[in-house]
Amino acid sequence: MFKNPIALINDPKEGEIVTPSEARQLELKGINLNYFCPCENCKDSERILILARSPKGNYFFKHRPGFEHEWKPMTLLHLYMQEYIAKAGRIHIKGFITENFKVPQQIIPIIPLMTIVEDNSHENIRFDATVFSESGLKIAIEVVVTNDITKQKAEKIRESGIPTIRIDLSHFYFDNRLKCQSDPEFVKSHTKGLFEDIVNQDWVQKPSKKEVREHFKFEEKKDEAGWGIVALIFGVIVIFGISNSCQGNTFKSRSYFN
Ligand SMILES: [Zn+2]
Repeated sequence: MFKNPIALINDPKEGEIVTPSEARQLELKGINLNYFCPCENCKDSERILILARSPKGNYFFKHRPGFEHEWKPMTLLHLYMQEYIAKAGRIHIKGFITENFKVPQQIIPIIPLMTIVEDNSHENIRFDATVFSESGLKIAIEVVVTNDITKQKAEKIRESGIPTIRIDLSHFYFDNRLKCQSDPEFVKSHTKGLFEDIVNQDWVQKPSKKEVREHFKFEEKKDEAGWGIVALIFGVIVIFGISNSCQGNTFKSRSYFN
C-alpha cells in the first residue's frame, strides 16, 4: 500500500497542505474536512484521499481501493515551495546585470493576495506561481526539483516577455532525497530558507529596460563606464608617476655609485 505523506484540504488544486497528524488534530476539534491527492495524474479522477489509522495507531492518507499509485518523488518539495510562495510577502532578488543596468541584490515587496499558484492564465505556459510586486510588476516563478525547465518552455517564457525567476532546488533535493520524499515536517521547515537563498536563483527571462527602471533599484551601466575611465586615467597617472620616480631612483643610485 502506498501511504501519502500529505493531502490537500477541500480542494485538489488550491487546498492547504495537511499532514495526517495535522488532519487528525483538526478532526479532533470537530472540523470536518475532505482530503484530496495533490497528484495531477492521480488514478482517482476525483482525487479523494481518506485519513486512516494503522494498527499501531499512526495516521496516514490512503486512496480509495483500486486507485493506489506512487508519487512523483519531487511532489512534496514542490508543493511546499508553492505553498510558501503563495503566502510570501517579499522576494529576495539576486543582483543581475542587463545591457543597460547593474541591478544590485534587493528585496521586492509582493502582494500575497495577487499571487497565483499553478498560474495557467497565459497562453501556452503554466507557471508554478506568479506574483505581483507592490509597484505592479508581474514576476513568474518556476521551481525546479528534478526536471529542469525544458528548452521549449524556456523559449515560450522568453516569447511571453514575463520576467521569470527559476529557483533550482535540485542540489537540496539530491542531498536530502529520502526526507524530501517522505518527511513533510523536514520539507516545510526548509521552504523559507530555500526561497530566500538567492544562490538557488537565476532569471529565465530578465526584466526589460523599462521594468528595471520602474520596479528595481539599479545603477546605470554608463556611470560605471565613466568611473572606469576616471580610474583608468588615475591609474595611468600613478604608473607614470611611479615609473618617473623609479627612473629618478635609478639615476640617483647610478650617480651615487659614480
Ligand atoms: Zn492520487
